[in-house]
Amino acid sequence: MSQTSRIEWTEATWNPTVGCTKISSGCKHCYAEAMAVRLRAMGTPGYENGFKLTILPDRLDEPLRRRKPTTYFVNSMPDLFHKSHIPAWGGCPSKNPSCS
Ligand code: SF4
Repeated sequence: MSQTSRIEWTEATWNPTVGCTKISSGCKHCYAEAMAVRLRAMGTPGYENGFKLTILPDRLDEPLRRRKPTTYFVNSMPDLFHKSHIPAWGGCPSKNPSCS
């Protein structure tokens, strides 16, 4: 289930995927990793794999089930367009040079 948010520019967060891969020194203090480890320790559903890249199929249609128009923060925790997810999304967008 998506979570309501206290962030002023959004109403809810929607994380159909969790986890990521560290790709540079800029990832050293990754917020998402720290949160994923914490949420796993708390037993939060969806974080059973911690920060390991995971698609959560049950969450994909959450916005479709919501009756109220909602502004979502999509994937507040992971990288929605991580290369490993590309097959699940049906392939690379043709105009994205970093996707192959
Ligand atoms: S979420 Fe961002 S900072 Fe964290 S590992 Fe992925 S790319 Fe790096």
